Amino acid sequence: MSDTPSKLPEELPRNVPEASPPTIRLEEVHKTYDLGEVKVNALRGVSLEIRAGEFVAVMGASGSGKSTLMNILGCLDKPTRGRYFLDGQDVSALTKNDLAKIRSHKIGFVFQQFNLLARTSALENVELPTIYAGVPVAERDHLAKAALEQVGLADRAGHFPSQLSGGQQQRVAIARALVNGPSILLADEPTGNLDSRTSVEIMEILQKLNEAKGLTVVMVTHEPDIAQYAKRAMEFRDGRMRRDVLVQNRQIAAEVLPTLPSVDEDGVEALGKDASA
Ligand code: ADP
Ligand code: MG
Repeated sequence: MSDTPSKLPEELPRNVPEASPPTIRLEEVHKTYDLGEVKVNALRGVSLEIRAGEFVAVMGASGSGKSTLMNILGCLDKPTRGRYFLDGQDVSALTKNDLAKIRSHKIGFVFQQFNLLARTSALENVELPTIYAGVPVAERDHLAKAALEQVGLADRAGHFPSQLSGGQQQRVAIARALVNGPSILLADEPTGNLDSRTSVEIMEILQKLNEAKGLTVVMVTHEPDIAQYAKRAMEFRDGRMRRDVLVQNRQIAAEVLPTLPSVDEDGVEALGKDASA
């Protein structure tokens, strides 16, 4: 079998300025998990480039290698073979320590399960990465508050995760991902645990960060509706990229939200006049 991804008829030229160097570049990346008796080839020769300011949706069936890809992009794991250039630097050969340093300054990570510390306030959850990054104590609080403000949760700083809705918890997790001022935000199924309106609210935040701040966003989703909010969509199958297209009829979350029924804090649909929309 060829390692070259098959080009489907609907493949379109990507709408990115060729002049800017890629912020992310993978060259023939393989990842094999060695389980002793069995070896799992989670990625089988992935080459791709993502430029600053792109918003990419990564799609594909369960087990197709999406999370493995994200962990490599996020410097949480290293390729078994192949190279990863992050802002021109070959990071595939760095030590764990050096990877952690790069990660804490360049990359924010958001997960499906939010991964907030339960007995810790929203503000303290958001502050945590500033501690690892060695930010002086005096600045941490200010940075964390600013990040919470960016996701519209400044008024919930003192709340614990159990006192927040799923959507609010994910917004805290996004604030935590932003607090060290990364240039890349990686989100692995960020709406996987959220209802459809709340999912669009999260897309509104990601689109705003992408447009207003030029943040590069790479988001895994298996929901085609959610991929419509990205600018570019890739599809993975069996550890290979099978499709890489410009999103057609891109959705703008800020325009879609007013057309959706509103949901109160407990996730119950409001019975207002728009509830049947
Ligand atoms: P996806 O996110 O698309 O569902 P993953 O990247 O999680 O896919 O998994 C790709 C393949 O690698 C699957 O066969 C999965 O079982 C395997 N895999 C993922 N993580 C590990 C791991 N830590 N150890 C062993 N196998 C793994
Ligand atoms: Mg996954």
